[in-house]
Amino acid sequence: MISERQYRSQIVHFGKMLHQRGYVAATDGNLSVLCSGNRILATPTCMSKGTLRPADVVAVDTEGRSLGGGRSVSSEIGMHLLIYKLRPDVRAIVHAHPPTATGFAAAGLALNQPLVCEVVIGLGSIPLAGYGTPGTPELAESLAPLVAEYDAILMSNHGVVAYGDTLDNAYMKMETVEHFAQIALVTHLLGRQQPLGEPELQKLFVARTNYQKARCEATSPGSDGNRQGNHSKRSLRTGRTGRTGLNVAQSEG
Ligand SMILES: [Zn+2]
Repeated sequence: MISERQYRSQIVHFGKMLHQRGYVAATDGNLSVLCSGNRILATPTCMSKGTLRPADVVAVDTEGRSLGGGRSVSSEIGMHLLIYKLRPDVRAIVHAHPPTATGFAAAGLALNQPLVCEVVIGLGSIPLAGYGTPGTPELAESLAPLVAEYDAILMSNHGVVAYGDTLDNAYMKMETVEHFAQIALVTHLLGRQQPLGEPELQKLFVARTNYQKARCEATSPGSDGNRQGNHSKRSLRTGRTGRTGLNVAQSEG
C-alpha cells in the first residue's frame, strides 16, 4: 500500500515532469490522487508545478473541503471531484495546457481521427468538451457528459485533462495526447490524412478490450473490487456498442 508521503512525492515528481516538458507555464495545471479513506491529495493554487515540495501538497475531502495544510487547493478542484464521482475506477488526475493539444482545443478540433493504432488502443479517441470558465462549476459541467466514456478530454480554449488508476498512468495519457496532437498537426501540415478503416478499427478495439481486461487482472490483488468492475464494464461497453467517438469516414486528402 502506498503511503501519503509517497503520494505527495509522486505529485511533486509528475508536476516537475509537466513543467519540464512545457505542458504548463507559470502556475498552470493541477494534479490529484484519491487516497484511502476518500482523502484527496492535490496541488495548491498559485504555485509553479516546477518548484513544488511534498509539504505544499494539500489534502481535501470528496467535497473539496480542506483537511489541513497551510495552502489553498487548486481552483480547478471541482473538475477533479466530478471525475472521481463519475469514474469509480479513477484514482489520479492530471490537468495541463500542452501547447499542441491545447492548440487543437483552441481551434475547436477534437483529436478523434484514428490516425495512429497505438492511440486507438490506449485512449480510443480524445473528444472536445465545450468551454467552461476555469474555477467555476461551468468547467466540470462541460466535461460531465464525456467523463464516463473517455480517459482524456480536450477542454475548449483551455487545455487537457487525463485520468487513470495511478498517477503514472494519468500522466502517460497526458503525454500520449500531446504526442498524438503533434502527429495530427503534421498530417494537417502535409495536407493529407489517412485514417484507419473500419476493419482495422474493429481489430484494435478487440485488442483494447483485452488490454484493459489484462490491466484490471494485473492490478487485482489489494485493489477495490467495485472500481475494477466498473472499469471492466466500461471497456466492454465501448467494444460492444462501438461508441468510440472516432471519425472514421472523413479523410482530409
Ligand atoms: Zn487549466
